[in-house]
Amino acid sequence: MSDALRREVWDVAVVGAGPAGAAAALRVLGLRPDARVLLLDRADFPRDKACGDGIAPHALQVLAGLDVHDPAADFSPVHRLRLRSPAGATVAGEMRRPAYVIPRRIFDARLVAAARARGAVLHRHTVRRVEQFPDRVELDGAYAARAVVGADGAESAVRRSLGVDRNPPGHLAVALRAYAPAPSGAPEQLLMLTADGWPAYAWSFPIGDGRANVGYGEVLAGAPVSRARLSARLTELLGIPADVL
Ligand SMILES: Cc1cc2nc3c(=O)[nH]c(=O)nc-3n(C[C@H](O)[C@H](O)[C@H](O)COP(=O)(O)OP(=O)(O)OC[C@H]3O[C@@H](n4cnc5c(N)ncnc54)[C@H](O)[C@@H]3O)c2cc1C
Repeated sequence: MSDALRREVWDVAVVGAGPAGAAAALRVLGLRPDARVLLLDRADFPRDKACGDGIAPHALQVLAGLDVHDPAADFSPVHRLRLRSPAGATVAGEMRRPAYVIPRRIFDARLVAAARARGAVLHRHTVRRVEQFPDRVELDGAYAARAVVGADGAESAVRRSLGVDRNPPGHLAVALRAYAPAPSGAPEQLLMLTADGWPAYAWSFPIGDGRANVGYGEVLAGAPVSRARLSARLTELLGIPADVL
């Protein structure tokens, strides 16, 4: 047993400090402000995460319930949504509640900062081994906690340690994401669903600083999908020049 482990048994250790992990830490500390909560992440914050950066109003509502009231500060709301169906029909209009587009490098760091401000302790550590004992869970023999929350994303080491398999075929998608100059005109979130590669879609989400988060993804249905295909589809659907990708 390492010195660190001997020193402290945390009430809760949360593996992964993305939105799920930060929210879990905030929830624990909301219920028990004196709880000893450890947040472990393999990355230093701020860190990027491949994502469309679209923050739905529901997410902000959940965060408000966790007493995080300004995660979208300095970003402008996006009021309009445009959807294109696989057959090419397009609808566009005002959303009932606006969405935001906030680079995850910023958004996730804000949530981590909120959790730390409430008392969560953030350590940089890649969890590889999870061992369960009657009174505690040990992580890599370096940390111990009475409870562990696995919030370590799509390739979760905690999930693997529980014997839960990776996603079966047909449940795994691959996407290419980039930042490109935002289209001119009123800002709107654009989703283009396509029959080719179905289920598949391209998106363009304006950040408000002249750039848009753009991407294209499709579900893996057996054959691998190359980067060249994703890039070509993005150019085809959104007109993004290949040299931006
Ligand atoms: C291409 C793409 C576009 C998307 N677009 C959107 C969108 O526009 N809007 C939206 O709401 N959602 C979108 N999503 C989904 C969204 O990204 C995820 O739902 C969200 O990131 C999940 O949050 P999380 O906290 O569970 O995991 P993550 O955000 O993946 O966080 C997991 C954290 O765990 C850490 N970690 C991983 N392994 C370990 C380990 N072994 N030890 C320690 N730390 C570890 C990672 O460093 C990371 O910080 C998109 C996803 C993809 C792939």
